[in-house]
Amino acid sequence: MWQDQRPRLIRLSHMTTSESVLARMPKTELHLHLEGTVRPETLWDLADRAGVPLPAETPQALRAKYVFDSFTQFLELWLAMHSSFVDATAYERMVDDYIADARRQNVRYAEVHFTPYNHERLGKFGARPALEVVTERLQRAESAGGPAVRLIFDIVSALLPASGEYTASLVEQLANPILVAVGLGGPEVDYPRTSAAPYFERVRRAGYPVVAHAGETGPAEHVRQAVVDLKARRVQHGVHAVDDAAILRLLAEHGIACDVALTSNLLLTEFRDLKSHPIRQLLQAGVPVTLSTDDPAFFNTDLTREYELARDEVGLSMEQLWDINLNGLRFGLAELPLRRRLLQQFLAEGAELGLTTVPDSPSAAGQPRTFEGAP
Ligand SMILES: [Zn+2]
Repeated sequence: MWQDQRPRLIRLSHMTTSESVLARMPKTELHLHLEGTVRPETLWDLADRAGVPLPAETPQALRAKYVFDSFTQFLELWLAMHSSFVDATAYERMVDDYIADARRQNVRYAEVHFTPYNHERLGKFGARPALEVVTERLQRAESAGGPAVRLIFDIVSALLPASGEYTASLVEQLANPILVAVGLGGPEVDYPRTSAAPYFERVRRAGYPVVAHAGETGPAEHVRQAVVDLKARRVQHGVHAVDDAAILRLLAEHGIACDVALTSNLLLTEFRDLKSHPIRQLLQAGVPVTLSTDDPAFFNTDLTREYELARDEVGLSMEQLWDINLNGLRFGLAELPLRRRLLQQFLAEGAELGLTTVPDSPSAAGQPRTFEGAP
């Protein structure tokens, strides 16, 4: 599937002035899974160290398996990856690779989803030691020039109630210095978002905001559930909100951002063409949008490429793209002084690159309210 699409996408990657601006501009990313950043070459090394069998004879053959054409194949790789996390070194490698990728793309602020429950049940190192390593490594990278990365712990929809109980207990007991929210991940079809409500209630009582995957492969109703029943501050994907005008209004009026991932949607949803991708309808309805890669290693993409697709295939203007990028700071959940400082840096660097914001953008207009606190 991906191989069929790739030539079409590459054809559009001719070098233009705005392309180099997209590569150089300071960036934000609010929706990617740390486990989804593990490249095939890294998985090969980790599995080799751990003695975990892989469904491939060589690193090249493993890379060829990173073609997202069946969920079964994806699951096979996902399980092998978690089994390969056997010690601190494996987690350090994952974080260091991610940081290198983020720096290469000039990502300055990111919120990274991480699923402790999967590391507890599938990994051999345990979730708590893993979190200590991941947190220390990310903090060290921030001190050494960035990016500033914050964590979102995901509850797995398909593994409720156990994943909810585990994750809620974890955040009640820990005080992780870079944890900014708890999220809901895992499959969406047949898994109503409301199933996580009791655990999200506990998480909010522990002081953390919540976010949720919704409206990706599931209906607009799931977006409503995420916002109304779970009280999600942002929605990952949310693209099916466009099927219900009332839910679009709900998102716009409450300033709930949708963290959109174009390539991910092309590969995993019914949207086969970015020209008809709902991101335009979200923007037209005044819904704040951010742009992300979701699982960049598995979808063979990076953030610069996602911005190129938004420009070349969706047809968004550079002003719209820059505004979407700044939304990562406006709607991010890290401490306000950090986001304000980064916003000032972004505006100064953006001006040097000739980037300006959309004066009448609904999301820009919503900025002060969002910066004041919870919608
Ligand atoms: Zn995701």
